[in-house]
Amino acid sequence: MAGVRHVFSIPLRTRFRGITVREGVLIRGEHGWGEWSPFLEYDDDVARPWLRCAEEAATGDWPDPVRDRVPVNVTVPACSPDEAHRIVLAGGCATAKVKVAERGQTLADDVARLEAVRDAIGHAGLVRIDANGGWDVDDAVHAITLLERAAGGLEYVEQPCAEVEDLAVVRRRVDVPIAADESIRRAEDPYRVRDLEAADIAVLKVQPLGGVRACVRIAEDIGLPVVVSSAVESSVGIAAGVALAAALPSLEHACGLATVQLLTDDVAVDPLLPVGGFLPVRPVALSDEALARLAAPPDRVEHWERRLSAVRQDQRS
Ligand SMILES: [Mg+2]
Repeated sequence: MAGVRHVFSIPLRTRFRGITVREGVLIRGEHGWGEWSPFLEYDDDVARPWLRCAEEAATGDWPDPVRDRVPVNVTVPACSPDEAHRIVLAGGCATAKVKVAERGQTLADDVARLEAVRDAIGHAGLVRIDANGGWDVDDAVHAITLLERAAGGLEYVEQPCAEVEDLAVVRRRVDVPIAADESIRRAEDPYRVRDLEAADIAVLKVQPLGGVRACVRIAEDIGLPVVVSSAVESSVGIAAGVALAAALPSLEHACGLATVQLLTDDVAVDPLLPVGGFLPVRPVALSDEALARLAAPPDRVEHWERRLSAVRQDQRS
């Protein structure tokens, strides 16, 4: 059965990174399925580690888990306070990640959203914010101080500024821990974050960094606490992130892996959705009906087949 694959196309509930449909390839190996879903604008070089992650999954070459479930956060988009309150209650997670610094909004919008989130999650809950690189250094320092007060404490702030050098400066000027997300895209990036002492926490994603074992090695090397996050994959791709979170010797923070619900549908019989704030560590079985329902149109299948053979070609050369 090796060599079998499916190209899927799943609509997103809301626009993400400018896309409304998540596409990718499910690749079957001796062990099972792996997902290869690099974003469309990525060239072959960038997409290559994503393929190594899929191949690792398909061959079943994952380290043994040391836990049987992984804590996850609920994600609150840059929405109204009422909506934020509703999402946190519905999420049932002890940690909320709140988007801030959205273009076209004000700091007052972020303050109101954080007050609503704290009200919904309660005193014992953890609140982290994600600015997606939306501030400059001075804005970040000002905003973090204000938002920490509004939230009644912050677990950390993710990617306050776009540049890793700026993260290092902000980190020296605020008390809230800093997490690097967009600053970690390629395998060498976590080492740069470490060397510049730019972050307290590293957000690792298994596809861009070349798979579960590669990420375990990076986590060991950089010596920072890790938050495993997704690239908004189907349950097949999420299972690889869960495998990493399950294998790390220490997992101090909830992970950003509860993202199957951002998609309108899924390829699995039993999708990897959180129960009581945790994702189970278990295999994912594909649903034949779902694969048929979510099959990409012929021109997109052709696109992905071409892309796959190009990346495989230079993997060999
Ligand atoms: Mg982020």
